[in-house]
Amino acid sequence: MSSNHTWLQRSFNAVWHPCTQMKRHEALPIVPIASAEGVWLTDFDGKRYLDGVSSWWVNLFGHGHPRIKQAIKNQLDSLEHVMLAGFTHRPVVELSERLAEASGLAHAFYGSDGASATEIALKMSFHYWRNKGLPGKKRFISLENSYHGETVGALAVTDVPLFSHTYAELLKPGLRAPSPDARRALPGQSAADVALAAIQSMEKLLTEHAGEVAAVIVEPLVQGAAGMAMYDPLYLSELRRLCDQFQVHLIADEIAVGFGRTGSLFACQQAGITPDFLCLSKGITGGFLPLSCVLTSSPIYQAFYHDDVSRGFLHSHSYTGNALACAAALAVLDIFAEEDVLTQNAAKAARFDAMMTGLQARPDVRDFRRIGMIWAFEVATCRADFAQACFAAMLHRGCLLRPIGNTIYFMPPYTISDEDMAFLIAATTAALDELAHASNSPDGHGIALP
Ligand SMILES: *Cc1c(COP(=O)(O)O)cnc(C)c1O
Repeated sequence: MSSNHTWLQRSFNAVWHPCTQMKRHEALPIVPIASAEGVWLTDFDGKRYLDGVSSWWVNLFGHGHPRIKQAIKNQLDSLEHVMLAGFTHRPVVELSERLAEASGLAHAFYGSDGASATEIALKMSFHYWRNKGLPGKKRFISLENSYHGETVGALAVTDVPLFSHTYAELLKPGLRAPSPDARRALPGQSAADVALAAIQSMEKLLTEHAGEVAAVIVEPLVQGAAGMAMYDPLYLSELRRLCDQFQVHLIADEIAVGFGRTGSLFACQQAGITPDFLCLSKGITGGFLPLSCVLTSSPIYQAFYHDDVSRGFLHSHSYTGNALACAAALAVLDIFAEEDVLTQNAAKAARFDAMMTGLQARPDVRDFRRIGMIWAFEVATCRADFAQACFAAMLHRGCLLRPIGNTIYFMPPYTISDEDMAFLIAATTAALDELAHASNSPDGHGIALP
């Protein structure tokens, strides 16, 4: 019995995997990974898989990056963790200062995952208005097809029915505004036209409800879990204007798009705006350790600064500001600062675009789009099981790719070589050919989830 088989069987029995109908794994094997280096994952039998989605969008510079690894090792020798209530340490101070400098938001509050960052931003916004004598501002506006995490608070501002429908009874209903998704453009319309139309709807919603709304929460430039819906930066600059006009906070959830993914360090920078709350996680440690952060402005911080304890932000996580995770995040910022990552990525993405012209021209490929280091397109197929069939076909070809519905996306580590990108593109082309020719299998199995 192969070593792979042993681990997948034990995992199947003992591990409840995320975002998964476990019964599907009766037929589709769980992939046990023994080691990883750069863009490659290796199983216990030595088979390799190219990590085309950066392990759920967290891995910026490849697996086992020496610099991040060394930073964690160095930190381990002096301090692994200390509680952050009443105590502090060098990595958390340095990280907060550097994130403040990069974002223009002076105060950093830490959590351990993305959903917690969303919760923190929602609670802080509500509490700010309460401290300001406006406790009626307690609702949130989110966008159609938004995704902000899956805890009960974050799920209430998430609009992906697969995740939220079952739990609807648990969720506090919010307000929903149309998405500025550029694919909604009618013939003759530009992405900016779609953005302006969506802004008009937002303005109407704010006109009616601003008095009861604490904040608008958006994923800047790309709605990731919706299937990489991209939109014009004009939407963000107009939204900033509306939020100021109607005295409502703007929460930018850059958990997926932060740290260079869209071409700038933060996506909001492309619209020239600063949000009231900036949520960061995923890429913050280069995919090494769980960490999240909410950055906010001095005026918001000051509204909590008081002799009265209950006016303070009374929220905590045991691992808040973990020293090892902060050390990893500092190494990530060092790489950005010293290796000219954004310029290199722009040149690389242009080369990859040229390599994808064949894929883009396929008759079954629609709405081919790219921003920064995210490529996405829809596949015209009549297969109901497309996502899982494509995932399985790509695994077979040595690639990790997880389509969202009929949307295929590439979100590789920034360090991917031209050669490896060519491999990923060729595997995708071959998998699409195979899926187009094979008949739809009614017992198609695998994973249809994002
Ligand atoms: C992944 C993600 C989250 C949730 O982060 P978790 O660490 O998975 O809880 C929130 N918002 C966006 C935009 C995300 O992509």
